[in-house]
Amino acid sequence: MNKKAVSFGLEDILAGKIRYNEPMSKHTSWRIGGPAELLVEPQGLTDLQLAIHYAGIKKMPVTIIGNGTNLLVSDSGIKGMVIKIGSGLAGIKVKDFTITVGAGAKLARVASTAQQAGLGGLEFMAGIPGTLGGAIVMNAGANGSTISDFLQDIIVVDDHGEVISMKKEEVSFGYRTSSLQELPFIVVEATLKCFSRDSQEIKDRIKTLWEKRKASQPLDYPNAGSVFRNPPGDSAGRLIETAGGKALRVGDAQVSEKHANFIVNLGRATAVDVLSLISKVQDLVYNKHGIELSPEVRVLGDVFRRR
Ligand SMILES: Cc1cc2nc3c(=O)[nH]c(=O)nc-3n(C[C@H](O)[C@H](O)[C@H](O)COP(=O)(O)OP(=O)(O)OC[C@H]3O[C@@H](n4cnc5c(N)ncnc54)[C@H](O)[C@@H]3O)c2cc1C
Repeated sequence: MNKKAVSFGLEDILAGKIRYNEPMSKHTSWRIGGPAELLVEPQGLTDLQLAIHYAGIKKMPVTIIGNGTNLLVSDSGIKGMVIKIGSGLAGIKVKDFTITVGAGAKLARVASTAQQAGLGGLEFMAGIPGTLGGAIVMNAGANGSTISDFLQDIIVVDDHGEVISMKKEEVSFGYRTSSLQELPFIVVEATLKCFSRDSQEIKDRIKTLWEKRKASQPLDYPNAGSVFRNPPGDSAGRLIETAGGKALRVGDAQVSEKHANFIVNLGRATAVDVLSLISKVQDLVYNKHGIELSPEVRVLGDVFRRR
C-alpha cells in the first residue's frame, strides 16, 4: 500500500475565492490597507466552516470583515486569514413581518427588499454602505434608528465552526457597539422584525434620507463614514469644526471640508496618515472643549509598523 501522505491545500476544499497577499485597500472604503496574507470569501456556511477548520489546523489568526466600510487597516497588512463575508452568504427571505438576511447582504439591498414587501422601519439602512453582519456587530444606525431596534435573532458560527442561534436578548447593544465585538463569533444570518408600511411611503422616505446624506457627506472621496462617536448630547462634527479642525491634513488624509467628522483619502493616504490625523483632531478638540473623542472606526492589523 502506498503510504505517501496526501496533503490538501485550501484550493482543494473551498468553493469560494482564495487570494494570497491581497491588498486590503481593495476591500476597504477608505482604499487604505496593506496585504492580507490570505483572504477567503466563503461561498456558503459549509465553506465558512471549512475555512475556520483550516485556519485552526494551520494555527492562523482569523480576521473577519464585511464590506470594509468601517475599517482602518494597517499599512503593513493583516497576518493570517482574512475571511470576507459577502455575496456567498447573502440570501434574503421575507415571511410575514420578518426578513431573514444573510450576513453578507448589503444594507441597501435589505432596505429595498423590505420596501418592495411593504415592510417599514429599515429605511435608515439604505444609505449605510455596509453588510448586515458588520451592521449588527457595530450596531449601525442613522436618523434615530439602529439595527438592534429591529433584531429578533441571530445565527453565528464560533471559532470551532459550531453554529449557534442567539436571541437578541443574549447580545448587548450600545451606541455603535455590541458585545459581539468581544466574542470570537462570526455573524452568518439574522432575522429582523418590521412593521407594515405603504411601499410608496417607504420609497419616499428612503429618497429623502439619501438626499440628506448626499448634501452633507463627502461621498466623492474614499472615506469610512463618521470617524468618531458622538459624545453624549453633542456631535463630534460640531466639536471638530468649532475647534478649527476642518480641512486639517496629514499627507493625503484630510478632515472633510463638507463634514468635519469624516476623514477623506485625497489619493495616496496611508493608515499612518489617518492615525496621526485622528490624534491631531483628538488633541485639538480636547484643548478647545475638554472632551476626549473616541474613534468609531475599527483598526485592524499592526498599526505601528510602517511599510
Ligand atoms: C459613506 C459612509 C456612510 C456611513 N454611514 C453610516 C451611518 O449612517 N451609520 C452607521 O452606523 N455607520 C455608517 N457607516 C459605517 C459603516 O458602513 C457601518 O459601520 C457598517 O455597519 C459596517 O459594515 P461593514 O460590512 O462594512 O463592516 P466592516 O467595516 O467590514 O467591519 C466592521 C466590524 O465588524 C466586524 N464584522 C464585519 N462583518 C462581520 C460578521 N459577519 N461577523 C462578525 N464580525 C463582523 C469586523 O471585524 C469589524 O470589527 C458609514 C460608512 C461610510 C463609508
